[in-house]
Amino acid sequence: MKRNRKDITAWIIIILFLVMLFFLYNQLKTDRYVDQGNEAPLPESLDPVVTEKTEKLVDQAAEKNIDVVITETVRSHEEQDALYEQGRSKKGSIVTYAEGGESYHNYGLAVDYALRNHNGKIIWNTSYDGNNNGESDWFEVADIAKELGFEWGGDWSNFKDYPHLQMDFGLSIDQLKRGLRPKHENSDQ
Ligand SMILES: [Zn+2]
Repeated sequence: MKRNRKDITAWIIIILFLVMLFFLYNQLKTDRYVDQGNEAPLPESLDPVVTEKTEKLVDQAAEKNIDVVITETVRSHEEQDALYEQGRSKKGSIVTYAEGGESYHNYGLAVDYALRNHNGKIIWNTSYDGNNNGESDWFEVADIAKELGFEWGGDWSNFKDYPHLQMDFGLSIDQLKRGLRPKHENSDQ
């Protein structure tokens, strides 16, 4: 009988501990985003952290003699829809599988890059080795980006989007659509 009571006490402590962990976990999670609700407008500019990391990327690539050009940042719902039609109702090749509101670009959380060669021309050649170190500049940039915390579209298995870099801050497209936005320290966003 005595033994039994001890067991029950131990279980209660374990359960209380788990409940506490659950609340702590939820608290941590809600500290990372703000809920702007279903009617939340799409941001018109690039997320501040993504902006800062993109600047770092350009600088660090320049140190390796790679000239990175950011060709695309935030994209409106309409621009995304128009791009989606390319290769479908409009001519050209398919460049995206995301319709308006479905891309991280629509939430200011993605950028696209390209390279500028020695002649000052913007190129999308993934085997170009302008700094002559035996490595593809394009992949060198992708590696720097990943180190800075970006997810690279070239790592995707279904549709490889080589120019694409994004930061989701743990938020899915569905959550972004519902109005959740990343919350950064030292920012009132
Ligand atoms: Zn992109």
